[in-house]
Amino acid sequence: MSRRRMIYEGKAKILYEGPEPGTLIQYFKDDATAFNAQKRGTISGKGVLNNRISEHIFTLLGTIGIPTHFLRRLNMREQLIRQVEIVPIEVVVRNVAAGSLSTRLGIEEGTQLPRTIIEYYYKDDALGDPMIADEHIACFGWASQEEMNDIADMAIRINDFLCGLFAGIGVRLVDFKLEFGRLWENEYSRVILADEISPDGCRLWDMSSGEKLDKDRFRRDLGGEAEAYQEVARRLGLLKEGEANMVLDLDSHRKMRGK
Ligand code: UDP
Repeated sequence: MSRRRMIYEGKAKILYEGPEPGTLIQYFKDDATAFNAQKRGTISGKGVLNNRISEHIFTLLGTIGIPTHFLRRLNMREQLIRQVEIVPIEVVVRNVAAGSLSTRLGIEEGTQLPRTIIEYYYKDDALGDPMIADEHIACFGWASQEEMNDIADMAIRINDFLCGLFAGIGVRLVDFKLEFGRLWENEYSRVILADEISPDGCRLWDMSSGEKLDKDRFRRDLGGEAEAYQEVARRLGLLKEGEANMVLDLDSHRKMRGK
């Protein structure tokens, strides 16, 4: 891994220089953090699963016309992506009350929202990613009005698509986080979907049992994180029956050999 130039190391992923200009390699780690990295741990095999899940979702979004940074998966933990300038805003889409919305406004977790809510948070770890309004985005020039219109339109389309995709596999899409990046073509730029979509940044509840199949298992010390992520991958058809454990075993074998 040290053969390549590292561009950036985040909490769950590392970015390396890509093989051609304008490309990067996105490496998925098993590291998990919560509460602005005050809680740290690892979820064994998470990186392998998130790489596959995100590849699948970004590919499907591409087929409905959502532009994304995803180019192709390279191996179990890496994908080739387009280099973008990340818009410093986390876009959270909510269908059901949970997490910070419930705590902040006292709305019981699991309450179906009468309409979808889009929220924006300023990406700044030192500030703890504070919630912001359109006014702050315009005032501080974090994104133009045109970019925000495109982002909001894409967020709604992505939500509609993903709600259906997950409903089809018996999963309720409670909420999720998106990030967007600017792709420059000469002096013009357009915003495209970046980062990842995986159980790390989504709340996914089993429709019949209500069981959590996402990072809340880690945040709330519920246990069974790896199994939950595997279950999402399996239901999406990304693991053949019986292959789930094999993927994780293969990966730990590979890591033991130091590859
Ligand atoms: N989320 C995320 N990264 C963050 C904050 C939130 O991926 O830095 C996701 C989170 O997994 C959930 C949704 O965004 O699916 C809404 O999170 P919320 O605001 O409820 O915050 P939390 O309860 O996770 O602190």
